[in-house]
Formats: sequence, C-alpha cells, structure tokens
Amino acid sequence: MSTVPELFGSMVFDDKVMRARLSADIYHSLKDTIRQGKKLDLSVANAVADAMCAWAVENGATHFTHWFQPLTGITAEKHDGFISPAPDSHVIMKFSGKELITGEPDASSFPSGGLRATFEARGYTAWDPTSYAFIKEKTLCIPTAFCSYGGEALDKKTPLLRSMEALNREALRVLRLFGNADVKRVVTNVGPEQEYFLVDREMYLKRKDLIYTGRTLFGAKPPKGQELEDHYFGAIKPRVKAYMEELNEELWKLGIYAKTEHNEVAPGQHELAPIFTVSNIAADHNQLTMEVMKKVARKHGLVCLLHEKPFAGVNGSGKHNNWSMSTDTGVNLLSPGDTPYENAQFLLFLVAVIKAVDEYQGLLRLSVASAGNDHRLGANEAPPAVISIFLGDELSAVLDAIETDSPYAGTSVRRIRLGADVLPRFNRDATDRNRTSPFAFTGNKFEFRMVGSNDSISCANIMINAAVAEALRQFADELEGAQGDFDERLHALIKKNITAHKRILFNGNGYDEAWIAEATGKRGLLNLRTTPDALQMVLVPENIEMLERHRVFSEAEIRSRYEITLENYVRTVRIEALTMADMAKKEILPAVLRYAGDLAAGVNEKKKAAPALSCRTDTKLLTKLSALADGIDGAVENLEKSIDGCSDPDVTAEAFYIRDDLLNRMAELRALCDEAETLTAASYWPFPTYGDLLFGV
Ligand code: ADP
Ligand code: MG
Repeated sequence: MSTVPELFGSMVFDDKVMRARLSADIYHSLKDTIRQGKKLDLSVANAVADAMCAWAVENGATHFTHWFQPLTGITAEKHDGFISPAPDSHVIMKFSGKELITGEPDASSFPSGGLRATFEARGYTAWDPTSYAFIKEKTLCIPTAFCSYGGEALDKKTPLLRSMEALNREALRVLRLFGNADVKRVVTNVGPEQEYFLVDREMYLKRKDLIYTGRTLFGAKPPKGQELEDHYFGAIKPRVKAYMEELNEELWKLGIYAKTEHNEVAPGQHELAPIFTVSNIAADHNQLTMEVMKKVARKHGLVCLLHEKPFAGVNGSGKHNNWSMSTDTGVNLLSPGDTPYENAQFLLFLVAVIKAVDEYQGLLRLSVASAGNDHRLGANEAPPAVISIFLGDELSAVLDAIETDSPYAGTSVRRIRLGADVLPRFNRDATDRNRTSPFAFTGNKFEFRMVGSNDSISCANIMINAAVAEALRQFADELEGAQGDFDERLHALIKKNITAHKRILFNGNGYDEAWIAEATGKRGLLNLRTTPDALQMVLVPENIEMLERHRVFSEAEIRSRYEITLENYVRTVRIEALTMADMAKKEILPAVLRYAGDLAAGVNEKKKAAPALSCRTDTKLLTKLSALADGIDGAVENLEKSIDGCSDPDVTAEAFYIRDDLLNRMAELRALCDEAETLTAASYWPFPTYGDLLFGV
C-alpha cells in the first residue's frame, strides 16, 4: 500500500504535476490566470490540454468531462472520449485547448427557471482553472462553471466566484484604509464538516421511502434512541471503521484533506471534516466528498444517507460551514492580532460580519432552505430557524465596553482605545462552546450551522460573502472620504454598528422556547420556519438591490433561482406523499389486515375448541387494529385528495398549499401507521424498523 503522502492528490492535476509537465512559460501564464483571473490564451490552453491528456491517459483515463453543479443540486458530467481516429485505422488519445476551456452540455436538460426562454440562449461550460482537474472512474473531470450565452449563471459556482470577487474588492478597500498596501487579494475560506448516516444496504433496499426519498416516511420510535448519548465519540464499529478508512483514501487521492472523523450524537450518525480551503474549491470538494461517500458505502454493503432528517425524532444531519477571510499575505482577518492596529482591523471585520448577518438574516436563512432541511431546523440538536450570532463571553464583553465607553478588564481601568490597545486573544474555550447557535464565532472563524447535509455549500457562502461585502462597502464608503483622526472615526463607526446590530448577538441556548419568543418579539428577528416562507426574502427589493450591486446575481437570475428552489420543494414533497400513499396501501395496510385477520381466525378457532377460553387480549388487539386500519384507509384517501389538489400553475401558491395542506395530511397518515407498527407482531411488519436501521450496522 502506498503511504498517505504518495496517495494524496495522486489523481489530481495539481501544481506539482503542472510544474513537472508544463514548460516554464506555459506554467507561469497558467499561474497568472489562476492568481489574477487573467484570460487564458488558446496557445497556452492547447499546451495545458496536451499535458493534461497525457497525464490522464497514463493514469488510466479514457474520457474527459466538464464537471459542474447545475441548479438541481447534484453534479453533472457528460463524458467524451479522448479517442481520435488516426491514419491506418489507428487511434490516438487527444484533447484540445478549446475542449479544455469550454464545452456545450445540452443545457435543456438542466433547470433554468425560465432563463433560457427569456434569453433564448444555449448553455456552455467554462473551465475554472483555480480548481484542479482530477480523475474519477477513468474520467478526467474538469471543474467548470455553467452559463447561458447571455452570461446568466445556470449553476452554483458562477455566483460563488462572483461573491468571492465582491468580498475581495470591498475587503481590499478596507485594508487600504489601515495602510495595508501589500495585500493583493482577500479570499474566503471554508471548512465544511459533513454529517451523515450509514445504514445496512439490505435493509435499505426493503424501504421504498429510503429508496425514493432518502428519508424514512414511517417508523415508530425504537425503545432506545440517542438518549444515552453513548454514540458521540464512542468507539467506531469495525464495519464503519473500514468504510471510513477507504473513504479517506479515496478522498486523499482526489486531493481532499479529509482529516477528522467521529461518531455523531445519533446512533448510526457520523461526521467527516476536511481541512479548510478557498471557498470555491471547498465547494467542489464537498460535492465530490458526498459522491465518494455514497460510492464507497456500496462497496461495504452500506448506504450513506445524506438527507437532513432521515429519521424523525433522531438528530438530523447538517454541514457546519466554517467560514473565514484571509489575505494572500497569510493574515486571517477574523483573528485578533498582536498589535493595536491589527486589533482595530479585526474588530472592524468582526463588526462587518455582525452587521451582515443582522441585515441579511433572510438571505442567509433562504440559502439553506429545502424540503429536507425544514424538518431539521428547529428540531432536536439542530440550530433553530432563527438566526443569531454567538460571540462568547470574552468578546461580548469587549464589544460591550466599546459600546458603552466603559472600562474592560483586559485593559484594566481605561476605556478601550482602538488603535492603542491590544486585545486578548479569543481562543476558543472548550467549556464555552455553544452548539445551539446557528452562527458561532469560534476563535478565528464563524461557523454557520444551518446548512443542510445534502445541500451544496455554495448557496450559503454566496450569501455570506455578498452580505459581508456589502457591510464592508458601507464601512469603506464612510471611512474613505471623511476628515479627522482615523482612530476616532473608526471607533465611532464600530460603536455605532454595535448598537445598531447587537440584537443579533445571543450567547444563550438557541433551542430554548423563551429565546424564540424574545428573538421574534422584542428583538424583531426573523423566524422563517419553512422553505416557502424563507424564499420570499429573496424578492425583497433591498435584497435584490444588494445582490445586483455586487454583481452576484442579476434580478433575472434571482427570480429564476426562486422558481427552481420552490419547484424542487414542491416536487420533493409530492414524491414523498406519493411514496407514503403507496407504502400505506401496498405494504402497511395489507400487513395490519393480515395480522388482524389471523387474530380473528385465532379467536374463532379458540371459540370452536373451547368456548370458555379467554379471548380478551386478542379481541382487544383486534378491535384496536381494525379501527387503526380504517383510520389509515381514510388518511390515505385524504392524502390522495390533497395530492390531486397540488396543481396550481403558480409555483408559489403550490408551495404554500403544500406547506399548509399536504404536509399535514402526511403527518396524519404517519401517526396512524406508526401506532399500528407498535401493535403489529414483528413478523408481520413489512419493512425494517427504526431499531433495525439505526442499530443494524
Ligand atoms: P470543531 O471541532 O470545533 O467543529 P475544528 O477546529 O476541528 O472545529 O474545525 C472544524 C472545521 O473548521 C475544519 O474543517 C477546519 O479545517 C475548519 N477551520 C479551521 N480554521 C478555519 C478557518 N480559519 N477558516 C475556515 N475554516 C476553518
Ligand atoms: Mg463544528
């Protein structure tokens, strides 16, 4: 077996390979493109393509594909062979610069939310040279963006790159104000922690709900759930261990820094965390990670469930999106520094994030909205649907001292003077970690915990980057023109913004009912519980204006994404409803009736054999089950009526109908079926139970 360093990145056309295989000239022009976003000329592209093709073929590849993330959520690829005819019926393996730079997938099969109709444009893919090409299943995958010919983004990567650009632009303006002249670029970084469940494949295949929808639509609570909390950091079972080992190796080959792995709170639940990297690469890697997780699971007779809430009553899965900004000179802008100036700069960036999260709560919330995540946000261990920021006691005390001009313990008796005082380092303290906060400051980064486990991290990061860019823009505007002492003006700006946005700061328990009441009452924070509610926020004029100002989205793109997200919501819930009706009619009801029939036959036989025998228990059970069967039958009818009722051509109206009607009918049917499960003999129950699934690996 190879060593980890040998394995790492072995399937990636990375810097090491480029250096070895490209001429110095070509290598440097490509590097310029990567670093400064310069246009790549065709002769360079041709040379890179040749080298890439030769490398890929040596490593077993036969095909290439432009790899991209359309708005469906999964990644898309269309494979083309390297094979080309050569004289004398021979073939050669080749690939041109043009094929490397652009491609034309059949755009009509990807959702565009009306954009193509509007612009009558075909879509094309364009190489993102900042994300390395890699080989997966004998195919050279070229990370690309996907746009219409009119330039409208049809994917998740394009707006992410635009949002990174916006943040870079505004952050540089702020840095210049601090006299920082050598920084050329500010990038955003993400380390997404990925949660998932593993279930046994044989059991999975017996459940239509898991197969069609990725989550269980029925299932009574098992006698043991997560209440003992014995799973988290518990010993990893051998089968899971073997899975994790292979998963790590596969990810390492793809140059993904998979680092930590542990069990999560729920039985059957685990987590994988990579080392953080630049946002667009982190997003690509996270898509790949999800794909590899599913693929490796199959080899181990397992299925990896990435749904946000595969089991009712058990913790859901999310991604903790660890986010920070850093400079090309290696400074983390969310890290308090060693000098008074660095501290003042840190506080300004910190306050920019606070302002951004407060002003654009709606955009952050909608960036993680999906039918699956609606079951998670606000449930069990997940963050609530209300967004707030956790800063921890120390940092809160600093902001408080600045706001009120009062002395801070760290600076003994004087009030804090920005530009003059050094702040303490806010090292994350293990005792002070708040797992319930949706947006937590953890020492030198923010952790946005609302992202769903199945979702791309792009949308969340687009909104965080755009919102922070906007806050920085306003700060730069205000500070750039003004006269007078810079430190004083900075102090005043920070102070003013703490006062204006402190309502979003909350260090307490985010699951607490009293907090939700305070948040939505006195503090006036948003509580957008469902996807249709959250999506309305993107149509708010100030939000559209902000996204347009930073050229992250055009209004047409926003409207198209609004439609696609709601369409996805509608389709997802409809498929769930149809699956429920099907399972209830074809599996659950027959099982209950069969058991009831056998009980009835038993009663008859007993009576025949000896009329004096007691039939109290069987008759009681029979009565209950017969009533439940009638209830289930009625609930299926209601559900089917409700499904027929979803036919509004207006997707917004349809989404709200689903929220208010269809989901309730589904819940009613489920409650009856779950009760029937608790009364039906195990040998009659048609599919594996929660206990089987959660403890079966
Ligand atoms: P925890 O266990 O508290 O959730 P870790 O420190 O182990 O946190 O990190 C979790 C994730 O955060 C990892 O993916 C890690 O690489 C990432 N991370 C650490 N520092 C940063 C940073 N400055 N910017 C972005 N992500 C970071
Ligand atoms: Mg975490």
